[in-house]
Amino acid sequence: MTDTLFAKIIRREIPADIVYEDDEVLAFRDINPQAPVHVLFIPKRPFATLNDLGDDDATLVGKLVVAAVRWAKAQGFAQDGYRVVMNCNRDGGQTVFHIHLHLLAGRALHWPPG
Ligand code: IMP
Repeated sequence: MTDTLFAKIIRREIPADIVYEDDEVLAFRDINPQAPVHVLFIPKRPFATLNDLGDDDATLVGKLVVAAVRWAKAQGFAQDGYRVVMNCNRDGGQTVFHIHLHLLAGRALHWPPG
């Protein structure tokens, strides 16, 4: 697969405002935030899109979600709420082809999204 911006962030080749890291997951603030808090949670293993996930990857995706939820709770967003979303390919609005989970918080978010 082709190298991506996010692979470079994992390798510390380009800077990022990293807020969380463990063996399998990295999280950093989005460079173009769509809410007061906008963090991207990514697996260190590269998958271009959600379509590339298989049955064996369910645990990894679960870890992404749990890492985001734990971070959101630690930041005090549990009660007011927040949103997690993953975009897939053109119609989903995906622009970086290394899967990532957006965590948006800090304001009331509109639904449905555009
Ligand atoms: P997508 O549109 O779901 O693929 O989301 C990609 C996200 O990556 C967008 O919200 C971008 O603002 C964000 N982004 C792009 N480049 C960088 C960067 O260098 N650092 C942090 N976030 C980035």
